[in-house]
Amino acid sequence: MQALVKTAAGPGLELCDVPRPQIGINDVLVRVHRTGICGTDLHIDAWDAWAQRSVAPPLVIGHEFVGTIVEVGANVTDFRAGELVSGEGHVVCGRCRHCLAGRRELCAHTIGLGVGRAGAFAELVSLPMTNIWHHWPGIDEDVAAVFDPLGNAVHTALAFPVLGEDVLISGAGPIGLMATAVARHAGARHVVVSEPIAYRRDLAMRMGASLALDPRVRKLPDVFEELDMVEGFDVAMEMSGNATALQSALGAMAHGGGIAILGLPTEPVGIDVGEVVLKMLTLRGIYGREMYETWYKMTVMLRSGLDITPAITHRFHFTDHEAAFAAARSGESGKVIMDWTAH
Ligand code: NAD
Ligand code: ZN
Repeated sequence: MQALVKTAAGPGLELCDVPRPQIGINDVLVRVHRTGICGTDLHIDAWDAWAQRSVAPPLVIGHEFVGTIVEVGANVTDFRAGELVSGEGHVVCGRCRHCLAGRRELCAHTIGLGVGRAGAFAELVSLPMTNIWHHWPGIDEDVAAVFDPLGNAVHTALAFPVLGEDVLISGAGPIGLMATAVARHAGARHVVVSEPIAYRRDLAMRMGASLALDPRVRKLPDVFEELDMVEGFDVAMEMSGNATALQSALGAMAHGGGIAILGLPTEPVGIDVGEVVLKMLTLRGIYGREMYETWYKMTVMLRSGLDITPAITHRFHFTDHEAAFAAARSGESGKVIMDWTAH
């Protein structure tokens, strides 16, 4: 089968012919239709310090996908050939305290699809049955392909109650864009998006933002009066990984507010702990999605009117993977999809 492979330690990816994945008795083999490109894939392509620590080549990369089941292992009874599915990209141990208690997202022994095991940028991908999620018939397959990052957005957006609240989203990358629509769907009063790239600010407005500002030009408290806000944001979502963005958010919070932190800074970040204490803020780290409460919520929100399609801006065939990665890297894009079906 064809697959996008990190063949050796160093920058770049190669489209290669590789053996089809073997499946065990608890596994499901999926014919991949479409995949989404994640920042993780860009890091692996670029072979930065994180990728050097985390990936052992050769490796088929990619973890955001949708496809149809072609084969199931002998123990698998809930899934059948022909069904449309996606997969949770975190493969957990199943045996630690948290896994046994049903809090699988807290597993400390997680292996990432396309990071620690063969991934989904391929014509076929294998996953344990416990990682497979059924889609409803007729779902837009571009949306189904990005359930993994949509799950990041939903898990972060629902970390604190947003109904009637004023929400700040720092960073309008694909996840910040989707979180904008989720916060709106969940009943936020104002959703203010802070993002330096104009293309992404425009997309944020299409996702339902009340206002999108360039943090280099406008300070967060400058918008309070315009939006009839009194004290500051009730909820903030840090989705940029940028230190200044987190520090600015802290300064613009109302007393008692909550900050959900999804963005991964490359260096340690200094924050004013006095501000956290005196404003009685709650800071919460968000990694991945809840298995499978977030998947359930994504499904029911999409079926009750949540629309994330404006965040999906580019589509390429997998043979055009270089152009697809260039689009994802450019910043002048939302989510970038690759099609793995034959043309
Ligand atoms: P992205 O890099 O496409 O988006 C980040 C955005 O933040 C960019 O558009 C950038 O222009 C913007 N930005 C930069 N500096 C800013 C500033 N000072 N203020 C406001 N915005 C600023 O990334 P993404 O794919 O949307 O992911 C968002 C973040 O979440 C990344 O840091 C990524 O590493 C992280 N992430 C975390 C998880 C998790 O499970 N915790 C999962 C996926 C991604
Ligand atoms: Zn575990």
